[in-house]
Amino acid sequence: MNTSLTALARPVTAAVRAGYAWSVRREKPEAWLEVARMTGVIMRHLGPGSAPVTPSELVALLHQPLGVWLSGADPVLGELVILDEHDRLTDDTYGIACDYTTEVLAGQEDPGARWLPKWRTHRAEQVEQEAFQRLVSGSDEDYSVGRRFLVEHPAGASDDLLDRQTDLGLRPLVSYEPIPQHRQEAGRWWACPVCHWPMAISPSGHVTCRFRPHRATYTLTDGLRILPADGAPPAPRAQSANGAVCVDESIWRFVVVPGVVEIRLHDRLDRLPGVSAALYPGKDRFDVGVRRAGEDDWLVTLDVKDFSSPAALAAKVTDRPIAAGVLVVPDYRRDQLAQLKRLLPGMDIATESQIYRRTSRLSREEQ
Ligand SMILES: [Zn+2]
Repeated sequence: MNTSLTALARPVTAAVRAGYAWSVRREKPEAWLEVARMTGVIMRHLGPGSAPVTPSELVALLHQPLGVWLSGADPVLGELVILDEHDRLTDDTYGIACDYTTEVLAGQEDPGARWLPKWRTHRAEQVEQEAFQRLVSGSDEDYSVGRRFLVEHPAGASDDLLDRQTDLGLRPLVSYEPIPQHRQEAGRWWACPVCHWPMAISPSGHVTCRFRPHRATYTLTDGLRILPADGAPPAPRAQSANGAVCVDESIWRFVVVPGVVEIRLHDRLDRLPGVSAALYPGKDRFDVGVRRAGEDDWLVTLDVKDFSSPAALAAKVTDRPIAAGVLVVPDYRRDQLAQLKRLLPGMDIATESQIYRRTSRLSREEQ
């Protein structure tokens, strides 16, 4: 990462860790120490005079936009509020802060790593590598099938998931846990229609996917039905929580959420006449490759990047160049295009729909 992003990653991660710890302080006694430890990390970053000195000062700041107290935050990060009025992590924390997560206690023992969800202590690449390490020793085909399975089945009835994996000759890649209580109501749960992970249910009866671009927002009725809000996809059916399991939040956020776009794009391109598309070829050298039928060379190679902040995405790609020829952003990030092209001059950048149209045109051209 470039210096400014690395510099911001530490206080942002510390703020998210402290916010999460504060949200579970009643159930987890370790939480108090974690908030104190993260206050120290933020103090070291901001320096004397401008930093919160006590955990309660830090908690007060976590209810305000980051830009108020963290200088150098880009506009998207600057508006991020970590805790809501009920001391719960906001949806934006899941959408935005994940782009910045890093180790804050590298080189020393990190007591938080034992109990904090991994997306608050590890970078996305680490969560991904751990999930797929078993697949890397197999064939390219095994890798692609295994990874696709995980993205398409982040939750479900335990027996059914096992049967499906057996049918595909897959060994379980990650552990599935029972559906957490705050994602259940009267023994039922609802999958987000986009990512298929259990939606969160608030005490006031709102049922939502915490990744906002999925626009999955519903209201629970007395008869245990859920009604879609304006612009939400049609309501999914309720499923029994008895014997139902799901992957943990880190796998959902770092593998399933981006994977949904990667697979959607792959499947659209693969249906074009005269070409075939490969998903995660070369064990994820890039996300999608397209060839003309009968040819070995790639016609188009794509990497999908789903970041809430164009500045964070540009810094990431500058630090770790992508192997694909085109960087693709999801259609719901089309507003980022102009800024990304400015920040990454010379890079070929397109939205999902643009690259679909371009590939469709290329596939029809004479060679
Ligand atoms: Zn979702």
